[in-house]
Amino acid sequence: MRKIALIGCTGSIGKQVCAVVRRLSHEYAFSALAAGENAQALSALVGEFQPRYAYLEQGRLSDCGKTKLLSREEKEALFEECDIAFIAAGGFAGLEYTLLAAKTCKTIALANKESLVCGGELVMREVQKRGIDLIPVDSEHSALWQALSFQRSAPFERLILTASGGPFRNYAREQLEKVTAKDALNHPTWNMGAKITIDSATLLNKGYEVIEAKWLYGAPFERIEAVVHPESIMHSIVSFQDGACLAQMGYPTMEVPIQLALTYPMRLPCAPALDFVKLGALHFERLQAEKFPCYSLAVQAGKGGGTLPTLLNGAGEEAVRAFLAGRISFLKIAETIQSVLNALPREEAASYGQLKEADARARRKAAELIYGD
Ligand code: MG
Repeated sequence: MRKIALIGCTGSIGKQVCAVVRRLSHEYAFSALAAGENAQALSALVGEFQPRYAYLEQGRLSDCGKTKLLSREEKEALFEECDIAFIAAGGFAGLEYTLLAAKTCKTIALANKESLVCGGELVMREVQKRGIDLIPVDSEHSALWQALSFQRSAPFERLILTASGGPFRNYAREQLEKVTAKDALNHPTWNMGAKITIDSATLLNKGYEVIEAKWLYGAPFERIEAVVHPESIMHSIVSFQDGACLAQMGYPTMEVPIQLALTYPMRLPCAPALDFVKLGALHFERLQAEKFPCYSLAVQAGKGGGTLPTLLNGAGEEAVRAFLAGRISFLKIAETIQSVLNALPREEAASYGQLKEADARARRKAAELIYGD
């Protein structure tokens, strides 16, 4: 039996990890389940899976039966008995868990983007030092990993990330001014949580994925590119020196990369195979960075390094929250990020504490710009 500590069990990815473990329950079980604030959902999962440990970041859990409920000070114990740490928490909050897991776990399945976007330097240092098997779960990075035969250090010429282009791919700037949260939450191909769905609409998410790819595959930015592929069938492509390209394809479902993170190199039944005749054609287009400035803002912050990606992310998390609450317009998301990056200085990212401070500063500055002081 392989034991999984799942962080972020009540979110979109967490629920799908639970679905996969339910299907593979003869071989996989949870040693720990942790959630942010959804006490009711966590309580139901604890009742079902009966892990050794449970942890809720905000709020209270009542009776957990035989499961030990950990306090904030004890949360390191989440990773005590696991074979795989599955980090599915959303946002900057995920980084702390990834770094905690890296202290004790030998295998980390990483679905939290911000761990690498904000803390790539710190996380990769631990991964290299401790020889951790870091498995990408983001669909694009899982696709690259598959095309590289599960070898993150395998040689390649270029990494080509595919992007659906989001719901506003064909919108003019005047139309983008008027889009609402409801419009933005209506993603054409993927079914995901609210934050990442908005980040997909602004293409901030694709910028994040460029930074993730840099850390995971040790690729200089010049060798990573993004191309719009509206059908979301080809999940990313590796191009090699001889001109050959290998891509991973499938209907868009996160259960495939989630399951593969647990079972690789073995592939088990998961999703229906593609019907190519029914698909008929696949399309590829240039990513319109001039229309979606969040993409370039993220890539630039990634190139600048230090605390810049953390400032970008903190501002982005605040701006998206305000957009979802109807407080700012869609175009204001990019403007807020840009203003925060202009206002705050870059520092080296030597420790988690430093990043946490940068994150708090970016959020304060963004809130000030959005709500006034
Ligand atoms: Mg992705």
